[in-house]
Amino acid sequence: MVGWAIAVHGGAGVDPNLPTERQEQAKLLLTRCLNLGISALQSSAAAIDVVELVVRELETDPIFNSGRGSALTEKGTVEMEASIMDGPGRRCGAVSGLTTVKNPVSLARLVMDKSPHSYLAFSGAEDFAKQMGVEREENDYFITEDNVGMLKVAKEANSIVFDYRIPTTGYESCGVGVESPIRMNGLPISVYAPETVGCVVVDSQGRCAAATSTGGLMNKRTGRIGDSPLIGAGTYACDACGVSCTGEGEAIIRGTLAREVAAVMEYKGLGLQEAVDFVIKERLDEGQAGLIAVSKTGEVAYGFNCVGMFRGCASEDGFMEVGIWE
Ligand code: ASP
Repeated sequence: MVGWAIAVHGGAGVDPNLPTERQEQAKLLLTRCLNLGISALQSSAAAIDVVELVVRELETDPIFNSGRGSALTEKGTVEMEASIMDGPGRRCGAVSGLTTVKNPVSLARLVMDKSPHSYLAFSGAEDFAKQMGVEREENDYFITEDNVGMLKVAKEANSIVFDYRIPTTGYESCGVGVESPIRMNGLPISVYAPETVGCVVVDSQGRCAAATSTGGLMNKRTGRIGDSPLIGAGTYACDACGVSCTGEGEAIIRGTLAREVAAVMEYKGLGLQEAVDFVIKERLDEGQAGLIAVSKTGEVAYGFNCVGMFRGCASEDGFMEVGIWE
């Protein structure tokens, strides 16, 4: 038996001027989600069930960028994506391009449990959702007023939005004042955007699991797939650890970030926090991303190299923390 541990995130790259009220709302939601996970773990729930439960809660609340409150495509629509992975047996499921599914993480779970596949996308994923009878909603349910406003700003700036960075005012990387536009894959990026969510858990039997869910980047092209549904990039779990990432998806994909944490633990023998620090330093440029992780021995760790990451963690020994900044 090991002590259980849980971590949640609500996205990396936070506007340093985010109003206090909004910061408090985010922290309350993270606390609520942690408490939900803690009660489940205290009732001996399996890690895989707990990550799904917690991410469902985050998807249902419109504060972060997943499910209701998802970032919008360039056409003002939602295309949600999610993935889930169970460490024991390395089982996984993922979905992309969802337009009606209330809780994408649960459809990802069904892909894992009830289909012969690992990843379903767009119309095929929607067909599967209908077949499975999961709860579905009209497109309007997912689209919030805040996000419609943000899409307008993004379009005016001709930007794909990952976080608060505003190229035209000369912020380089995480708000360090340098007079050059910031670009992502050659495109300018700007202004505060809603944030992806994720959860990682190790249960008292040492089983690790991870789940991530998102609407993707604000003003993304339709059809764009980010890191969040990609096993090994945005999400990974195995016998050693569980990892969920957030940030600039294209950079996370290039760094196979989540799998990399597991790989350096497995092949270099690093401890969890060491592995997280190594990967953030070696596989990312400054300002790109963050991640949360747990290990089979009950440790919990996180790391990020941009200004802020909404996150929280708790462990069986009574430790609990919720934070946004360093
Ligand atoms: N990683 C997500 C994506 O690129 C965005 C985020 O984490 O906020 O779709």
